[in-house]
Amino acid sequence: MIPVLVMRYAVLANYVSQAVEQKAQLLERQCQQILEQIADSEYMHGSESEQVDKLIDQMASLYSGRVILVNSNFRIIKDTYDIDEDKVIISEEVLLTFQGTNSTNYDEENQFLEMTIPITDEDAGETDGIMIISVPTLDIANGKTGLSTTVLQMQSILLLLILGVAFYASRILTRPFGRITQSLEDVAGVNDEELSIPDYTETQLLAEAYNRMLKRMKAQEDSRQEFVSNVSHELKTPITSMKVLADSLLAQEDVPVELYKEFMADIAEEIDRENKIISDLLSLVKMDKRSSDVHIEETNINQLIELVLKRLRPIAATRDIELVLESFKPVFAEVDETKLTLAMSNLVENGIKYNKAGGWVHVSLNVDTRYFYVKVEDSGMGIPEEAQEHIFERFYRVDKSHSREIGGTGLGLAITRSAVLMHHGAIKVYSKEGEGTTFTVRIPLKYVP
Ligand code: ADP
Repeated sequence: MIPVLVMRYAVLANYVSQAVEQKAQLLERQCQQILEQIADSEYMHGSESEQVDKLIDQMASLYSGRVILVNSNFRIIKDTYDIDEDKVIISEEVLLTFQGTNSTNYDEENQFLEMTIPITDEDAGETDGIMIISVPTLDIANGKTGLSTTVLQMQSILLLLILGVAFYASRILTRPFGRITQSLEDVAGVNDEELSIPDYTETQLLAEAYNRMLKRMKAQEDSRQEFVSNVSHELKTPITSMKVLADSLLAQEDVPVELYKEFMADIAEEIDRENKIISDLLSLVKMDKRSSDVHIEETNINQLIELVLKRLRPIAATRDIELVLESFKPVFAEVDETKLTLAMSNLVENGIKYNKAGGWVHVSLNVDTRYFYVKVEDSGMGIPEEAQEHIFERFYRVDKSHSREIGGTGLGLAITRSAVLMHHGAIKVYSKEGEGTTFTVRIPLKYVP
């Protein structure tokens, strides 16, 4: 709307300047004839000439204006208003015109156009005097008023049109947003249908982004539910076993002490298992928490890994498994010692657990300018190809019964992965069934919150 309003001033200003220019050209053309006669008649040097007087009067009355002739002494020798004759006139315009420059002045406020034109004697080549002619310009003013009315009418129509289009367009443009809002409100309730807003690109993109978010939320919700049901199931299994063991003891009369002992040992084992699941779950929950629970310190990684191996050596020894650390350089990095220790323990422990008697686990530590790398290699049973992408999931176990036998909860690698990701690192697995498994971990030396 602003350009439409501004346009009016531009149109009117342009009209006025054009009209003035045209009028000035017309005046100048008509004056030219009279000027020639004046120059020829020695009128400027004092000779009387009725014909010139007549011509000048005609010219003045034709435009209802005023004509003044000034001679080379700046004295007014003719004024059609008969007011200023014999007076001397010296003004900027007059002086400039004597030097040969015409001037045209348009006085918009008082509505008149004034021109000063030199009277030149062509033969002598000098300026004998000047003619000042001023004419009223009511026609320009009237033209301007007329044009102004027309433009105003057009403006009003345009403004109405713009308002109408804007109103209509905004209604159409905002309609999809109404639907988005509706859908967002529905998410809080039961309706979680995908959005489809093909109205125009922007809303289409918005809808797509929204649908992606919806999908992620659904996936998160599914995974949360699965996690809860897994947790309940895992926690229930040991309790069910204990219940069965206890019931069978209670159901029998005169149970021998040996049987009691045996069953009690089984029950104690189940309690240990329950305990392990709960402590693993707690570790996992802690890993999932945001940075508030992180204690980053400059840590000697060689020492950290040596300590992990030292703790696990007795377990490895029971199955005659060789545990070797190969470290190339001293490594210091900003890490959360507890969490990284847990992550490393899980990897090495798995290497021992899923190994054959008399096998080996090799751990190597390496470093470059930005990262340190830990490689845990074992000579164990390996992980089937199709299982490799799942092993980091919570409660996932390749062989449930075997894992259970050796005390696995299916949470170890999930904890390890969370710990590595918390340090903005990466973990990868390479494995061949029957030959062995290699886990590689890469962690930045500097911690970035
Ligand atoms: P678990 O407590 O059962 O060991 P993890 O999350 O540590 O759970 O591991 C998930 C599964 O991945 C294990 O049950 C096992 O089947 C497989 N796995 C992990 N590490 C190894 C390994 N070094 N060699 C062979 N299989 C492994």
